[in-house]
Amino acid sequence: MNGDIEHGICQICHNEADLTRKYYRYDIKCECHSPYHFELVRHCKKCIPKEPEITKIIVKTNILKKFIMDKKTGEKLIKAGREDLIKLLEIRNSGYAGILSTGEIVDRRTFPEAIPMQKNKSLGIPEPKNLICSLIN
Ligand SMILES: [Zn+2]
Ligand SMILES: [Zn+2]
Repeated sequence: MNGDIEHGICQICHNEADLTRKYYRYDIKCECHSPYHFELVRHCKKCIPKEPEITKIIVKTNILKKFIMDKKTGEKLIKAGREDLIKLLEIRNSGYAGILSTGEIVDRRTFPEAIPMQKNKSLGIPEPKNLICSLIN
């Protein structure tokens, strides 16, 4: 038995058939089973899967608020002509921010020698993530 094959109703033609799974992955964290949101379309051999037009993301309210805040900050930075700082914001939010001996803020996944940036709730800096975990994943 092939683990990928299941029997059921095709989501495209609605006929009963052996189904194949097609995953559409989105680069956004969600409270579904995967750390990143995805849509799953089960379809038969005859049908070409279609990306769903609507997707539901389950997000914790505090994450949504932070997302909106970051978006606003991002827009402000672009207006001020400081797109360069957006990358910095992303690094800071990732939990992989580190400080080099030069004082430069970097991504520890690229600069493992950098000192992890400490958690700071008011600045929106998350708990530093363990670098070893990121290498395993
Ligand atoms: Zn079908
Ligand atoms: Zn999801």
